[in-house]
Amino acid sequence: MSRTQALAQTLAYFDDGRFQKTLDRRVAYKTESQDAASGPILHAYLREEITPQLESMGFSCRIVDNPLPGKSPFLFAERMEPGASCTVLTYGHGDVVRGYDAQWREGLSPWKIVVDGNRWYGRGTADNKGQHTINLTALEQVLAVRGGRLGYNVKIILEMGEEDGSPGLNEVCALHREALAADVFLASDGPRVSASRATLFLGSRGVFNFDLSLNLRDGGHHSGNWGGLLRNPGIRLAHAIASLIDAHGRILVPGLLPKEIPESVKKALQDIEVGGGASDPEIDPHWGEPGLTPAERVIGWNSLEVLAFTTGNPAMPVHAIPHTARAHCHMRFVVGSDVAHFLDHIRQHLLAHGFDDVEVRSTNVYMAATRLDPDSPWVRWGMASIERSTGSRPALLPNLGGSLPNDVFAETLGLPTLWVPHSYPACSQHAPNEHILVDTTRESLQVMAGLFWDLAEQGADIMKEAA
Ligand SMILES: [Zn+2]
Repeated sequence: MSRTQALAQTLAYFDDGRFQKTLDRRVAYKTESQDAASGPILHAYLREEITPQLESMGFSCRIVDNPLPGKSPFLFAERMEPGASCTVLTYGHGDVVRGYDAQWREGLSPWKIVVDGNRWYGRGTADNKGQHTINLTALEQVLAVRGGRLGYNVKIILEMGEEDGSPGLNEVCALHREALAADVFLASDGPRVSASRATLFLGSRGVFNFDLSLNLRDGGHHSGNWGGLLRNPGIRLAHAIASLIDAHGRILVPGLLPKEIPESVKKALQDIEVGGGASDPEIDPHWGEPGLTPAERVIGWNSLEVLAFTTGNPAMPVHAIPHTARAHCHMRFVVGSDVAHFLDHIRQHLLAHGFDDVEVRSTNVYMAATRLDPDSPWVRWGMASIERSTGSRPALLPNLGGSLPNDVFAETLGLPTLWVPHSYPACSQHAPNEHILVDTTRESLQVMAGLFWDLAEQGADIMKEAA
């Protein structure tokens, strides 16, 4: 029994078609958590698809109802060994965003894997069915090569509501803090920094959404009779937005920005190149905060987007001054931002710029920002293990540019959090034509087999170091 053998056996599971068969079955479950009618299928995914695999690996499994009424269920599983050196908690989500079936490229379907060269298309291949399937496959093969003995305990929480904003995840973890107690958190979601570079990230930026709106009158008014006399809410709103962020994507409200990028984060980011992949969009060199590198802009800084902006009726414009305008805005922010007061900062800024007619409202879409110290022994262990499996130094991201409910694990459960993502930036997650890459997936299987193997060999030592 050897590490090499475990990696080879994990790869064989992919190369002989078993991995595709398993993932294809999982993709076929229409686990669209944003659709209120999908409750039974969310349960079925856990009960019919995940539980049998875990039970065959010696896990005991239970489906736990969401503490919030009517929300998606969770799967808790654990595999405990006598004399275990440590306990790892892992996580995944079995739900997906809506299929948008009609918008996929001709010949593709969200609900079955379609292979096209290096790409496997299907909803959830990247986010997150492919990723937790990689991890469970690697663990299963390591377990087989080690004769059923890992030397550490494994706990799993799988949620079915991540794409619905993870309702109840924090509550269920708080309620079951003891059952979920562990020494380290190791899971996979989101993209690598680029398809070809294995990545370890330690937290995520947060999300903060807000609406800006003007409701000036009860209805529209003829532009010939009233144009030049009545405020146009669309024009007012356009200028209000322009006061928050300039024409080159620079945020103009100091209260919405972090004070600085810490040196340790800057140092890690020097090694990070974002974009540049064959199907990545081209980065706009003059967009965002001036003076920062692209990696600093997307990982170490905050961003503000307008996701949607309407006034009048875009589908059928009429010669009238619209009575309302609304913009749905969205921020990603890093640790160290004054997020508790973002709304106040926006309101004060708009007032100071004469926009007292613009209403600012939180949309209650929120995720906290988190970041594990890059000097943690767990980080050194993870970096070394991945390098050993791939032969090259992985990217270390202090936090992901995107957002995950990582505060649940880092704060509610108090764990050092390691994330090893398996998709890549242009995977079209959340869009039509979502896919994973064959070569990246094969490498990811080896990365995870290596991590699960090395934890068996080195878990006791890291525990001493981390103490
Ligand atoms: Zn997602």
